Amino acid sequence: MQCPFCQSNQLFVTNSRPTVKNTQIWRRRKCLSCKESFTTYENINLSYLKVIKKNGKIQRYNRAKLFVSIYHPASETKNADRGQTANFAEQIIQEVEIEIMLRKQKTISTQTILEIVLEKIYKKSPSVFLKYLTYREGNNEKKVIAIIQRYLSK
Ligand SMILES: [Zn+2]
Repeated sequence: MQCPFCQSNQLFVTNSRPTVKNTQIWRRRKCLSCKESFTTYENINLSYLKVIKKNGKIQRYNRAKLFVSIYHPASETKNADRGQTANFAEQIIQEVEIEIMLRKQKTISTQTILEIVLEKIYKKSPSVFLKYLTYREGNNEKKVIAIIQRYLSK
């Protein structure tokens, strides 16, 4: 990256934060040569991320797959509307991706993704939280109960 004022590449980041709405990282940069400051927005790109499945297999992170896994249970809640449900899933994914990115890891387990998604959904909709949890872990009652208990005691 170059300074837009003097084309120097002697830049440093003075501040940065994710913008939840746009799935972008906002960065304030300062040029060491001309001392000017400017702002950049960088898109979140998790194409580098490898996901370790329960059976040990490694897959590339797949946003579409994550979307479906949230959309499906969310669409089964009362009065669910297609557009709203898609919006909901999109919002959750954006928050999840920001969280993953901030962890600065190249690999992540499906279990960790599950935990992050649950946390984000719980804040927005406890009813979708329950649907999602049973949809993902329904064949493991003990785990479902343990997770619910953990959330109830928060
Ligand atoms: Zn400069």
